[in-house]
Amino acid sequence: MSDLIAAVATAPGAGGVGILRLSGPKAAETAARVFRPARKISLAEAPDRQLLYGSVLDKEGRVIDNGLAFVSRAPHSYTGEETAELQCHGSPMVLSLALEALFAAGARQALAGEFTKRAFLNGRLDLTQAEAVIDLIDAETPAAARQAAGRLEGTLSRKIREIYDGLVDVSAHFHAVLDYPDEDIDPFREETIRTALDRGLTATANLLATYDRGRQLTSGVPTTILGRPNVGKSSLLNALVGYDRAIVTQIPGTTRDTIEAKASVGGVLLNLTDTAGLRETGDEAERLGVQRSRAAAEEARLVLLVLDGAEGLTQEDGQAIALAREAPACICIVNKSDLPPVLDMDALAKDFPHICQVSAKNNAGLEALGPMVAKLFPTGSGSEGEALLTNARQVEAVTRTRENLLRAQEGLEMGVPPDLLLTDIEGALDALGEVTGTTVREDITGRIFQRFCVGK
Ligand code: GDP
Repeated sequence: MSDLIAAVATAPGAGGVGILRLSGPKAAETAARVFRPARKISLAEAPDRQLLYGSVLDKEGRVIDNGLAFVSRAPHSYTGEETAELQCHGSPMVLSLALEALFAAGARQALAGEFTKRAFLNGRLDLTQAEAVIDLIDAETPAAARQAAGRLEGTLSRKIREIYDGLVDVSAHFHAVLDYPDEDIDPFREETIRTALDRGLTATANLLATYDRGRQLTSGVPTTILGRPNVGKSSLLNALVGYDRAIVTQIPGTTRDTIEAKASVGGVLLNLTDTAGLRETGDEAERLGVQRSRAAAEEARLVLLVLDGAEGLTQEDGQAIALAREAPACICIVNKSDLPPVLDMDALAKDFPHICQVSAKNNAGLEALGPMVAKLFPTGSGSEGEALLTNARQVEAVTRTRENLLRAQEGLEMGVPPDLLLTDIEGALDALGEVTGTTVREDITGRIFQRFCVGK
């Protein structure tokens, strides 16, 4: 299999600009077979990162477009290898013909994430940075994009390195004392290990505590829309998402299953679940829906409790209110503000500090929801420079680091000999190294890069 990879780096479909990327041996020479510069200079001899204007060719050498191209030689490129990039018009036909020409010239199709994988393998990025690339591409709120950009610049990597270095110091000292008994090395003091372990334990605990916010930024806040049938839950979901995701009908109990959608509200990504109305029913399908809505409400970090402002409270509203009260956070949404008001807002305000009157059908009053959500989940700003854990892989590795450190701490208190403590400290280092990929587990890295789109 050729080591020279090529792919269309821009999203599928027609667009203003389309980009083809190449990475590997002879990338410049191969790209030069598909691109003829207007000036008398070959792409293969062009200086690094200098844009050339010229014609894009198909595999028979016929002109199919004009555009720009540049080369970047090792090691100063994204992948750390020799790379070339062709920028043409975003025509799927042009891109496909140019790619075919690159294949004919010796390149092969890149696999998903292969460019970034090479960047990792060549030490241009660590694993947290590679994951940040995916998160940046997938970011759905400005805060998520800024967080990912921060990680790409190394916020998390630096934090991990700081903890790592503190532990490496201890382990290096150990080795020095044990391996060179004749040298005049400071003897090992229990206090030094104790301090290093304490520091490591505090730092890893602090890091694990960031996961809630990190996950919130990248995956969204689990949010359940709760209320009796026909209060306007589906209408609210549609208004928040901005298109008709849920079917809105006048027959109570239409939303039998749960519907999920994402919406950015007040700069916070909400993972919305529209539940079946809470009502006792004989209809089996609806009964299952009700069960699911209870489950969704129990898992939610935020409940949007919907009430019909134009009708008095019913027993079913009472059930929804009771469930909503148990949620970690709740906003009460009094819907149908376009109709004459019936509900006693003052009485409701006593129960719900966050309350907002809207007309979901008319898309009115929803702007008040943004500041409430932003206040309840303040990840919108200030977190970009902070090292946050954002996925389960990182959490698992940091948790294992802590387990090792705790074992070492326990051993220390029990008077276990230093060389045995070292095993746990080195276990902690191994686990911590997995976060950035210093200690690589093939199966895990493989999975990370599979999440990429081709061309990244
Ligand atoms: P769900 O059963 O709680 O999901 O409620 P739907 O969203 O399906 O809405 C039930 C009915 O209420 C439909 O006929 C909607 O058009 C109507 N509805 C929803 N929101 C509003 C609103 O803000 N004002 C009025 N007047 N009707 C609404």
